[in-house]
Amino acid sequence: MTSLGDQHRMFIQAFMWKKFFSSDEVRQLHKECHVKNKVPRTELKNFVDRINSAISPMNMAIKKGTDEISGEDYYVLINADDNQISRLSSEYKPKELELFKKIINSIVLSDEGKVKSIDALNLADEINVPKKDGEEIVNKFCEDGWLMKNDGCIIFATRAIVELQHFLRKEFKDDVTICTLCQNIVFQGDICTSCRKKIHHHCRNKYFSGTRNSTCPSCKVEWK
Ligand SMILES: [Zn+2]
Ligand SMILES: [Zn+2]
Repeated sequence: MTSLGDQHRMFIQAFMWKKFFSSDEVRQLHKECHVKNKVPRTELKNFVDRINSAISPMNMAIKKGTDEISGEDYYVLINADDNQISRLSSEYKPKELELFKKIINSIVLSDEGKVKSIDALNLADEINVPKKDGEEIVNKFCEDGWLMKNDGCIIFATRAIVELQHFLRKEFKDDVTICTLCQNIVFQGDICTSCRKKIHHHCRNKYFSGTRNSTCPSCKVEWK
């Protein structure tokens, strides 16, 4: 970290505290870090790259991910070590983590990348957590940016998709779906009516807008 300036350290500290930021918040933070330290501003991408090369020996990185529902970009501080879930044991109680793991499991194994809120509470029941407490635990994971409530269901929020990417690919390698367009894991997306491959909504929008593409990026059949 010796190669970093105070503006970089201030940026990392903000991430240690909050863990994830929307791109608007990151742009604001990037600006503040330069203004407060009275240094000329560098381009955000170069700034983050420089931080990442300094913190990579500690297995950490600041990564960008896209919200699967809103298409908005987020920046997340991730720990790239192998067992990302057990590392969370310093932040959460054993029962909280146990329920989170059960919810992860249900979401990954579902076809639509989600679990009904009511089913999540039944999962709490299975590990002898009263439903009321189960609900609080779910809310906590939502507030912390791991999960999100959507239409009576619980889905992964961007933090989980970015930070648990490595874990999910390893633990559920036969069950996770990879978006044909961006090669990242996809939970909420559009499914081709012909080949059943799934792509993100935001990847679909980019792919079909302003180009002559009208066919599925996987099977080349007309996209419906
Ligand atoms: Zn994608
Ligand atoms: Zn297709």
